[in-house]
Amino acid sequence: MNLCSGWRIWLALLLGMISASAHAEWVDRVVDGIMGTRITVEVWTDTAAQGNTAIDAVLAEMRRLDDSMSTYKSTSEVSRVNAQAAQHPVKITRELFDLLTQAVEFSRITHGAFDITYASVGFMYEFRKHERPDDKQIAAALPAVNYRHLILDAGQQTIRFSQSGVRIDLGGIAKGYAVDRGIAILQQRGITHALVTAGGDSRIIGDRFGKPWVVGIRHPDDASKVIAKIPLADTALSTSGDYERYFDENGTRYHHIIDPGTGKPASKVRSATIIASTALRTDGLSKTAFVLGPEAAMQIYNQLEDVDAILVTPEGKVLYSRGLESPSQQADK
Ligand code: ADP
Ligand code: MG
Repeated sequence: MNLCSGWRIWLALLLGMISASAHAEWVDRVVDGIMGTRITVEVWTDTAAQGNTAIDAVLAEMRRLDDSMSTYKSTSEVSRVNAQAAQHPVKITRELFDLLTQAVEFSRITHGAFDITYASVGFMYEFRKHERPDDKQIAAALPAVNYRHLILDAGQQTIRFSQSGVRIDLGGIAKGYAVDRGIAILQQRGITHALVTAGGDSRIIGDRFGKPWVVGIRHPDDASKVIAKIPLADTALSTSGDYERYFDENGTRYHHIIDPGTGKPASKVRSATIIASTALRTDGLSKTAFVLGPEAAMQIYNQLEDVDAILVTPEGKVLYSRGLESPSQQADK
């Protein structure tokens, strides 16, 4: 190869890079109704076609997870577990087995505040229809709420419930998992700048034009008011709020985060935002503060190296975990 053709190749490569980046663009899509929620995918790709194909792949994965994990679908793998696991061990996919194992781990970390067996009582709440169980119904179903009733056999890859009446629901963790899966699919395609959101769960890779993504945390009573703005890059974030799925009755708010100890909505905070490396982790930890209260929950969050939290108390106070406090606030302690 002579010098001249060598240069030509370099020049072609360089021009190719310039034209690619000149045409590179953000492609985004918002879809309602997968996993019972709104999905947003934003990607930075060389062409709109590449971006759209990548987004199609993410949405296909979310539909697959919805089909296998929804308790609203009688044919889902989770529905099959709920129907059979009190009678005998049920063989499940590696994927579900691993997710259930993670769910139990979150129960341990949060001293039982996160518990997928909440559904043993939770299934009686129908927020859209303003329906809730009465105290008698709750008392009868409550003994079935306990993650220790889940017997996972890694060798056999099975799950069994230790007693009848136990139900599981992955509504508190499946979206976080699905967001991580979506990000993995984008990364496999070489995408380095993207955002995937499912309901309250998001994950970001890269930044936005050299600047962080700025995520707003809404006021619990006014969706148009932002109470905090956080700059983020390469991280996951979940917000849980008592304003997402609820009805009010005689001055009491009945919402979708259930205290496994009482079988009733957990109201010790109005919202909790968790920041950590994966959406599985942020989703698995965002319910805790509602059940344990801000002090006990902050203790857990502060002990976890990679976790930060922003809590809004019933009085409207905004609390930050240690990693988000300003140096002067830290010095005050
Ligand atoms: P989103 O569905 O918008 O991501 P959250 O992450 O706050 O909202 O999850 C709320 C869901 O978590 C509820 O709808 C329910 O399915 C589930 N859930 C409620 N209480 C608990 C609990 N104590 N432990 C685990 N999951 C729960
Ligand atoms: Mg969530």
